[in-house]
Amino acid sequence: MTEFPIPRAALLDGNALAATIRSELRDDVADFTRRYGRPPGLRVVLVGEHPASASYVSGKTQDARAVGLDAATVALPETTSEAELLALLDTLNRDDAVDGVLVQLPLPPHIRTERIVEAIAPEKDVDGFHPENVGRAFTDTGGLLPCTPAGILELLERADVATRGLHAVVVGRSLIVGKPMASLLSSPRYNCTVTLTHRHTRDLAAFTRAADLLVVAVGQPGLITADMVKDGAVVIDVGINRVDDPSRERGYKLVGDVAFDDVAAKARLITPVPGGVGPMTRAMLLRNTVQAARARAAEP
Ligand code: NAD
Repeated sequence: MTEFPIPRAALLDGNALAATIRSELRDDVADFTRRYGRPPGLRVVLVGEHPASASYVSGKTQDARAVGLDAATVALPETTSEAELLALLDTLNRDDAVDGVLVQLPLPPHIRTERIVEAIAPEKDVDGFHPENVGRAFTDTGGLLPCTPAGILELLERADVATRGLHAVVVGRSLIVGKPMASLLSSPRYNCTVTLTHRHTRDLAAFTRAADLLVVAVGQPGLITADMVKDGAVVIDVGINRVDDPSRERGYKLVGDVAFDDVAAKARLITPVPGGVGPMTRAMLLRNTVQAARARAAEP
């Protein structure tokens, strides 16, 4: 009996593309520094001792320094009041050497997240979460895009995925991934027909099976199985989940929301976890900081 090779999706390699983007940004940062006599500045604010947040924040500042940004973490104790955090943001908003301000979420429960997000100057809001930037993304009027959707769009563009007319199905409607992703994919730049699904969607599989482009941002390992995916689809797995793995020293491994091996046998393109969307999200923070610095330098 002849054995046919199982067709497998090509990988959308976020690690490789993020490395390319960081090297492009190194040149942009050097150019900005020559022109304006200072590097673009990024301040990452961490409140409290959330263990995952501390490692995210140190990763962000290290990435930023590696491309030549003036990056620093401002670490505040868990007991910091909302008023104290607002006062710090006011100082950073006024500091001319600071182009990007990011407050790591989640915040301790006594601080209102929306109050803090809205207190960051929109032109320095490199996470793209301020309502002004959300509105700009929604109205196609520029501004700073949220990093995860921006990273996914960059992956698609650089892989020459022709998005026009595709049926894009987005699973998950968070403010940081699903909702902006659905809005951006339906914009005149990408021209997808978009379905936005969430936990109350009836018969999720009926929607995902109709997707030419499937973006999954839920946080449930193995949610998307091969029978839920159309042959030849482009699959973007945003989920980051820890699952037990006694064979690893740390006792767990990271997986996405998509049953990778089975779905990779059906899809045309697929992002791995780790090494897909995550590194692109990190790279887009750096790109946003350079974009913010250029925009501020252009209108002093
Ligand atoms: P969230 O945790 O705020 O919300 C989850 C969403 O999934 C909700 O909108 C909910 O309605 C939907 N949902 C839950 N169960 C569902 C189901 N059975 N069917 C359909 N929809 C369902 O979302 P988030 O903050 O976007 O995070 C989602 C995942 O993406 C998490 O694993 C998170 O760690 C990861 N994430 C990764 C990156 C990255 O850079 N790779 C960035 C942000 C988030």
